[in-house]
Parts: sequence; C-alpha cells; structure tokens
Amino acid sequence: MIEARMASADSGFITRPLEAPGFSGYLAQGGHKRRDPLAPPVERESRVAVPMREIVCYECGKTCSIPAAALSASCSHCSAHLNTDNITVKPGTRHLRVRTLGDVRIPSSVELSGLDVICHHLHMAGRVNGTLRATGNVTLAGHATVSGKLVADELIVQRGAKVEMQSGISVEHADVHGAFSGRLYARDSVHIYPGGKLNGPCCTPYLQIDPGGRHIGARETPDSSL
Ligand SMILES: [Zn+2]
Repeated sequence: MIEARMASADSGFITRPLEAPGFSGYLAQGGHKRRDPLAPPVERESRVAVPMREIVCYECGKTCSIPAAALSASCSHCSAHLNTDNITVKPGTRHLRVRTLGDVRIPSSVELSGLDVICHHLHMAGRVNGTLRATGNVTLAGHATVSGKLVADELIVQRGAKVEMQSGISVEHADVHGAFSGRLYARDSVHIYPGGKLNGPCCTPYLQIDPGGRHIGARETPDSSL
C-alpha cells in the first residue's frame, strides 16, 4: 500500500493519508460505541412507536393499553390473559362463556340458552337467552331474538332485520334501520331511519325519527331508567 502511495505521489497525484479523518481520535477515545465525529451523518434509527389501542379488561373492567396488533395480551391491572380472537359462535356449542377483545358473530343458525358473551363488536342474528355485552357496537340482523341482558356502546338494527329484545337493551346510541321490538334505553340518542320501526318504550334524551321511520310506544325520560 505504501509503495502504491509513493508511486502515485511520484506520478504527480496528491495523496492523502490512508487513515480516515478522526479515526485515531476515535480509537484514542477508546469506545467502539463512539461514532467517528467526522464520518458522514448516518440517519439515526428513529424509535418506531408501536401502535397501541385501549381496551377494557373483561376480567377486571379496567382500561389498559395493548399493542394494536397483539394476538393476545395480558391486563396490566389484574394480569389476566386476554384473548383477542374474533369468534363465531357455533350452533349447539357447549362453550357458552365467550370472552374476547375481538368481535363475536352469532349466526342465524344459533339457538342457545345460557350464552354469556363479552366482546368488542357483536354481530347477532341468532336466538339467544343469556347475557351479551359488547364494548363496541352490537349489530342486530335477521330475526335476532335476545332474552336476557344486552349491553353495548352502540346499537345498529340492520335494514330488513326484524329483531326482538325480550328484556330490552341499554346503549349509548342506537341507529334503527330495520324493525326492533322491545324496550330501548339510549343514554345519548336514538335515530330511526326511513323504513326503521321501533316498537316499544324508548328512553333517551334525543330521539330523531326520519320520514318513513316509526316509533310505536311510550317515550320516556332517561331518569326513569331501566
Ligand atoms: Zn384486568
């Protein structure tokens, strides 16, 4: 190498020391973790923020954050293992206790008694006796029938559905596109769309009925709650 440098110097080229600038300083500082201060800037690896989502633990009821893409998680409060699967309830299943942070689907072929569900969104078209709790939306479709308890954040009665709640439902907000029979308690509001029909007492501070929508039943104030 030295010979090569000499040769190039003889032929009129200006040679520079082979040593990288600052390299001796780098070594003198002794730390292989220290970066050569004269080296071209390397794009610093930015810390990638893992997308998180807030969930409500179905065991202790407290709110905690888990990575949005997590397939399973554990509660930071009670350490319970939390399932995040989306589950379809099968007709005749013996697994009547369903707990998931994911969504649950109850097809129209399902006819079960004693079903106990806690989930995020619930799509319900079956005939069920039990307790159904959704932290997200509950969509009622087909000829869904529920006797027992149904609690959700938002209720959507699908267009064309003809559903029956034998013991009422408690939600924040309800969008009624199809026919709903039963007592409806909505802390925020109820919207009956054209073709929507609410047959039963409606307890909400704000009821909007579009032309072509109907409400048959008593209108109650939220104070006389369920
Ligand atoms: Zn918990």
